[in-house]
Amino acid sequence: MVFAALALSIFLNSGCKKIAGPGAQAEYVLGTYCRIDLFENGNGELYNRLFSRLAELDRLLSANRDDSELAQVNRNAGLEPASVSPELLAVLERSLYFAEISGGAFDPTVGPLVKLWGIGTETPRIPPEEEIRVALDLVNWRDLEITRQNGGTAFLKRRGMALDLGAIAKGYAADELAEILRKAGIPRAIIDLGGNAYVWGTKNGGDPWSIGVQDPMQERGNYAGILKLGNSASIVSSGIYERYFTENGRRWHHIMDLTEAGGRRGYPAENGLFSTTVILTSSMDADALSTACFVLGYEKGLALARANGAEILFIFEDKTIRGSPGALEAFSLTGDYRIP
Ligand code: ADP
Ligand code: MG
Repeated sequence: MVFAALALSIFLNSGCKKIAGPGAQAEYVLGTYCRIDLFENGNGELYNRLFSRLAELDRLLSANRDDSELAQVNRNAGLEPASVSPELLAVLERSLYFAEISGGAFDPTVGPLVKLWGIGTETPRIPPEEEIRVALDLVNWRDLEITRQNGGTAFLKRRGMALDLGAIAKGYAADELAEILRKAGIPRAIIDLGGNAYVWGTKNGGDPWSIGVQDPMQERGNYAGILKLGNSASIVSSGIYERYFTENGRRWHHIMDLTEAGGRRGYPAENGLFSTTVILTSSMDADALSTACFVLGYEKGLALARANGAEILFIFEDKTIRGSPGALEAFSLTGDYRIP
């Protein structure tokens, strides 16, 4: 999880729904705390517009509510194509792109497996092998058909299939907020959608932005290091610390390994990584890549990120940090890690 430095205390003390800090507001939406800081340009009307947009996107993209557009596609699985808005269609299109180029490491049809494990819910569990096998059989992005015809439709070909856009939706949402800021002529802002950060514009005074990269082994707000970034950019992390439960003396996190290389076992990805952090202008792409690269591991993940113009950091279980040259250049260690 990435936090804009200093923003954190406002977050952690928040028991209520909406907290107005000095020039910042936070709300629980998209299944996470979303915090926006417009600095000296903050005003109630604009904050409302931004948070309304997030609520709207939740109704569009959420896998956890019956009334979302996504839920309608899931209900129609194996029956008939569902009409979808151009917006959902665009996110699905981009999801299929990342599914394809990652060889299915990122897969928007991961829904049945996510539900089965229940990680992040009140009742997570290690499912029996047989149930994993059944769920895994229903996960395949090639069985998602989308078309722009008839005003746009999406179809999951087999009964029981389900979309889950948890690995890309927050990124899309961050891009949408940045677009509102651009149209409104807002010169600077920080958007943090539960670890999906966007630094917008340039800081007052022109100094680079400092963004803390969460130390995966420490409480929230402890950083493995700081990224310094000059201009608008999105910084997105995926890791074992975001949602997990502990059982049989092990940590079971929420990012599923769907790859053939990983044996396609339907278990949380295990490849010596604690987290990945991707830096890119498009937050949607950064989000999908952070998950895909986490699943793929260091070598393949680095190549995938580079091929998509992204900078990336990998934090390993052995407390080393590696990454692309640009990311390492912008990064300085603050925690108990080392760069080999
Ligand atoms: P976060 O939600 O912490 O920002 P990610 O962007 O990595 O982290 O998304 C993880 C979420 O994506 C999971 O909670 C689940 O809903 C979904 N997911 C899990 N494994 C995969 C996968 N291999 N491909 C696509 N989505 C996944
Ligand atoms: Mg992601």
